[in-house]
Amino acid sequence: AQLVVGLDIGGSKTHGALWRGDRLVAEAKAGSANVQNVTPEDAARSLGGLFHDLRAHADGSPVTRVIAGSGGVDTPADADRLRALIAAHAPHAAVEVVHDTRLILAAGGATTGIAVIAGTGSVAWGITPDGRQARSGGWGYLLGDEGSGYWVAREAVRRALHRHDTGLAPDALDAAVLALNGITEPTELIGLFHSDAGRTYWAAQSRAVFDAAHDGEPDAAAILDTAAADLARLVLDVASVIGVPGPVVLGGGLVMHQPALQDRLRARLAAAGIPDVVVLAKDPVMGVRFLM
Ligand code: BGC
Repeated sequence: AQLVVGLDIGGSKTHGALWRGDRLVAEAKAGSANVQNVTPEDAARSLGGLFHDLRAHADGSPVTRVIAGSGGVDTPADADRLRALIAAHAPHAAVEVVHDTRLILAAGGATTGIAVIAGTGSVAWGITPDGRQARSGGWGYLLGDEGSGYWVAREAVRRALHRHDTGLAPDALDAAVLALNGITEPTELIGLFHSDAGRTYWAAQSRAVFDAAHDGEPDAAAILDTAAADLARLVLDVASVIGVPGPVVLGGGLVMHQPALQDRLRARLAAAGIPDVVVLAKDPVMGVRFLM
């Protein structure tokens, strides 16, 4: 039977799975190998560790096929760079690179519909039965990624700075952001943000906002309202081009694991006349099984 490796290359982590034929035999996790997000050296290191772990379950047989879903793959050159990094660890394999949205729809058991990702980054993409496609957002953290983990955390940092500028003492949300960064002064956030901490680092800090919203902090809730509105707009952008050709499948850490954002996004979509919304119940990498 074919040995197939599936990869979900997110902004903060890489999730790998190994199939022998259609039987799942192993899973492994590593740091991000997203070339938009980490250096090629770090990406190579993450992939090296991941393949090492998966190969331990391959009984010495070579991997014959790799299907990788990744964010930040917008041009054929992006895909080529990533393919080369992967091929170094699977020299006998045919390596296919697809955009991470493909895994979301497939893992949701759908062949047509709209996939929405809110994780480290964000995007919406959809496809119709006759193959028409549309995408909105997902241009990376400098240009877009509204409603993503990075965006949510950056809003909290901006808010803390704004409050400081206007003479307000840090409140509970500000204090949580400062504590996560191990600093005491809001102004220290400025240098830290422009350091090479990176978007994975900041995306992880979105939890300060989710915790504060949970504790009833209205400004934290307002950030999540805006995030949900932005994500809903991505879906409506796609729908304006191709309609709604199936379920809207929500994937990515933020919408899969943060009910506060999930519920808000569902409500926005329902209000816009889109009730068929599915939250991915399995890991996106499992979508590879349907792309083989
Ligand atoms: C990337 C997209 C990706 C999205 C969701 C963005 O930062 O630019 O390619 O689809 O994140 O992972």
